[in-house]
Amino acid sequence: MNRIGTVSGMAAAADAARRRGLRIGLVPTMGALHAGHLSLVRESVSRCDITVVSIFVNPVQFGPDEDFANYPRDLDRDCAMCGEAGVDMVFCPSSAEMYAPDRSVGVVEQTLSAGLCGASRPGHFSGVCTVVAKLFNIVQPDVAVFGRKDAQQLAVIRRMVRDLNFRLEVVGAPIVREADGLAMSSRNVYLSESERGQALGLSRALALASSLVREGVRDAGHLRLAVGDFLCREYPGVAVEYIALTDAETLAPLETVGPGALLALAARVGRTRLIDNVTLP
Ligand code: AMP
Repeated sequence: MNRIGTVSGMAAAADAARRRGLRIGLVPTMGALHAGHLSLVRESVSRCDITVVSIFVNPVQFGPDEDFANYPRDLDRDCAMCGEAGVDMVFCPSSAEMYAPDRSVGVVEQTLSAGLCGASRPGHFSGVCTVVAKLFNIVQPDVAVFGRKDAQQLAVIRRMVRDLNFRLEVVGAPIVREADGLAMSSRNVYLSESERGQALGLSRALALASSLVREGVRDAGHLRLAVGDFLCREYPGVAVEYIALTDAETLAPLETVGPGALLALAARVGRTRLIDNVTLP
């Protein structure tokens, strides 16, 4: 496996693969890899000849009060995991390699980024779009794989690819969970043992909503109230930021559950911000 730290090195390696007629898959990550990331790698490996994993804690997608400095980093471990998973190249540039000090151009998505996580994280999705657009230009992949764990991010990236005519296929991969249901996240390492117990509330609440929908509940207000009440009662350590029923593609709020309805949840447990979502039955 090839570990590449420069933009020119990455571009040259991707160009060489393309000249050989190989199909390139890209899995963008911020590292601190876990089984969720590896499932995206498997998706890419199954669809492509060459899989590139980018590992870059992107400074421009973090707000001033967010966890950029503390974000878990372990590049050697990540590279070992990538090697075992069949990754061909890890692209791990420095911030200075990715961003000129006087950079003045970025990508802004105006609509889908406004609500949900965007409401409390201004600038986050333009930071994401900017770095992902740069990665697409550097690697020029045929396929890029993103997790449905970050459902809003996936919708925003799909919109960017459509609106800016990036010539690649975006694949959304299912959420990978711990055995007890907690959605895997690099940020789970921040949780103390008792917070870890409270964090389970998110997936439990979404499971409750799914079972209500299976029993015939369709009304968004009813579902949101049920989820909120459940968390308040059973998981008082979960401070809900939003509970939203939206269309998975447009992120438009829905009044009733229909095809493609997504129930998304963001909450703080202690100082850790967690998100989770479910596509309703
Ligand atoms: P991150 O390193 O957190 O920026 O995530 C990199 C990619 O992995 C994103 O496309 C995420 O949606 C995806 N991802 C993170 N956690 C999971 C998970 N538990 N299941 C599936 N995909 C995930």
